[in-house]
Amino acid sequence: MVGEAAQLVVEADQRLTSRFRELEEISRTNTKKVLSAFWAEKVSESDLYGSTGYGYTDLGRDKLEHIYARVFGGQGAIVRPQLVSGTHALKTALFGILRPGDRVLVGTGTPYDTLEGVLGLRKTEGSLVELGVSTDVVAWDEHGKINLPALLSAMRSDTKLVMLQKSRGYQSRASLRTATDLATSISAIKERDPNVLVLVDNCYGEFVETLEPCNVGADVVAGSLIKNPGGGLATTGGYIVGRRDVIDTIGAQLIAPGVGLHAGPTHGFLREFYQGLFMAPHTVKEAQKTSLLLSSVLESLGYEVDPSPNDDRGDLILSVALNSPSSLLAFCRAIQGAAPIDAHVTPQDSSMPGYEDAVVMAAGTFVQGSSIELSADGPMRPPYIAYVQGALTYEHGYVAAGKVAETLLAEQRRS
Ligand SMILES: *Cc1c(COP(=O)(O)O)cnc(C)c1O
Repeated sequence: MVGEAAQLVVEADQRLTSRFRELEEISRTNTKKVLSAFWAEKVSESDLYGSTGYGYTDLGRDKLEHIYARVFGGQGAIVRPQLVSGTHALKTALFGILRPGDRVLVGTGTPYDTLEGVLGLRKTEGSLVELGVSTDVVAWDEHGKINLPALLSAMRSDTKLVMLQKSRGYQSRASLRTATDLATSISAIKERDPNVLVLVDNCYGEFVETLEPCNVGADVVAGSLIKNPGGGLATTGGYIVGRRDVIDTIGAQLIAPGVGLHAGPTHGFLREFYQGLFMAPHTVKEAQKTSLLLSSVLESLGYEVDPSPNDDRGDLILSVALNSPSSLLAFCRAIQGAAPIDAHVTPQDSSMPGYEDAVVMAAGTFVQGSSIELSADGPMRPPYIAYVQGALTYEHGYVAAGKVAETLLAEQRRS
């Protein structure tokens, strides 16, 4: 790192001291919550071994699911290596709960790309539309908040489920905060119709705050283990947590009706799932510190960042408008150049199935597609926004911030 860039990072780190203290407090509270669940379930070394074949009487798996239920404030949980991603966990929850004639209401604008396919908002083979399940989307209000009046009046007698996405995903709006945004919306939904189920897409939201969606009335949440709750150690997996009856309904579809959650081998995955959950509050804190550092450095370089360093956060995603194709490429190349894996590779923009514009991605991760590890991507269209998330260690984030500052300062001098 050369002079000016290094100085920018040092100063940003110093400006963030009190924010970092807040993150440490959240991480301590969440670590205590995770440990208390481990203690309550009396985890032993023999719980880490896993099972094969049908996976009957897998006590380690059952205990881990009890721990997830405790940590995420539900009565039951499904935590399996057979759930390959967040999309798969959410799809399993939706297909488990919904029946022909049911209606879904998405209260947080257009859902995450892959969920559009699951719901059939985009014509997709095998979507819920084929089963006779329809979906309506309620757009954000003009302040980028949940439009609660519109949501409540869109609820009808056939509305079975309201889905809320905690993370901003790739939208330009704030993430939802659990104690305020989610709590208010869920209680209003339940007041309007106590029988409607609320599903929260919790991807990127876990352990960012000290409350989780089920603590404020959500019936079921789902997410990916190669994001926050896997702590950077889980190499695959997804989870679903919720009300007992809802988890049992979903569990009936996980493998086969009548088999329920008694089957499901865990192979060698339990150790990394347990250890990953143990690490997760800390890992999320490291990712958040990295996000704050990048946000502060980029803001001082004159770029528009969202959230800004002083905003409250409900997820891990930072967006930065880089304003030109060359700066977006330079940014992603700096992130890639700081990665532990494939740092020598130069990201190029290329077209991707399902995306309108070419996309550039930086990801030098130990686990393919893991976005709790430092990664960035962005579509090649104005205002050339890069979405950044993750970092297993703040030290890595610090090195990356230096490379970013150096690269963008050089870009600015050239133009
Ligand atoms: C990542 C993500 C998903 C999908 O998860 P995958 O593990 O990538 O399938 C769904 N919703 C949100 C908000 C996400 O961030």
